[in-house]
Amino acid sequence: MRQATVNNRENEHIKNHMTRRSFVKLSALAGGTAMLVGLSACGGQPSSTGPSSQAASSTSSSANSRSGSGIIASRQVPSGCLPIDVGAVVDNVCTALAVYEAVQKNKPLVENSVTVTGECFPKQANLMVRVGTPLKYIIDYLGGVPEDAAKVISGGPMMGKAVANLDAATLKGTGGLLFLTREQTKRMPESSCIRCGKCSEACPMGLEPFLLRRLYKAGDMDALEANAAQDCIMCGCCLYSCPAGIPLLDIVSQARGQVMGIMRARAKK
Ligand code: SF4
Ligand code: SF4
Repeated sequence: MRQATVNNRENEHIKNHMTRRSFVKLSALAGGTAMLVGLSACGGQPSSTGPSSQAASSTSSSANSRSGSGIIASRQVPSGCLPIDVGAVVDNVCTALAVYEAVQKNKPLVENSVTVTGECFPKQANLMVRVGTPLKYIIDYLGGVPEDAAKVISGGPMMGKAVANLDAATLKGTGGLLFLTREQTKRMPESSCIRCGKCSEACPMGLEPFLLRRLYKAGDMDALEANAAQDCIMCGCCLYSCPAGIPLLDIVSQARGQVMGIMRARAKK
């Protein structure tokens, strides 16, 4: 494990071989079919910002693969489909670097950059970490778990998952470890929906989370599909923006899972 200037390294490769937000035809990789590949910037600098401000970068990177193919490549992704279905791939620079190293250097993905951060974490850092490294090795290397940390999140503050056991190993997609205090993980008490529409305004996929919640409670799967519950990217923006403390993310992700199950079963027939 070594401390690394990850962004500089990525930028150097990209400057030499690709241009940010440019299109690269990777005919060979696409099995002879021309494919548009758009690059979007990935985060990675240690930050002392709280969950809400970090949320923006996490959300935008997640939404990028779908909205990016529309914005960059002018290829709209239909509901329930992936960018690859319209012949587009939009990835962050970390993935582009991994593709470059695999194709040009015959180097498999054996390590990736992990950002360790959080307001309560004193030694925030970007590290190059071998895939399979136990999380506790990384944390011990940086001085151990801070006393006031209540939760460790693997991934970003909104789409990341709480880590139950620090013996778990990093995977190829482990991009960050975030330490949150008890104060930051506290949920506000739930009250009734006041129909303020803030959840809809915040949704990067243009969904209406308050409506999806109502439809899910009514068990109306057809209406959920018609209102694109399957397009939820589980970013959690609706949950963070709701002044009534309604657990919209939990509800919409359950609705999404059930609708996708129905869609998959239908496709098999
Ligand atoms: S419904 Fe909520 S979790 Fe799903 S994409 Fe919209 S804001 Fe994100
Ligand atoms: S943000 Fe919360 S209170 Fe406002 S409309 Fe959405 S669910 Fe209702």
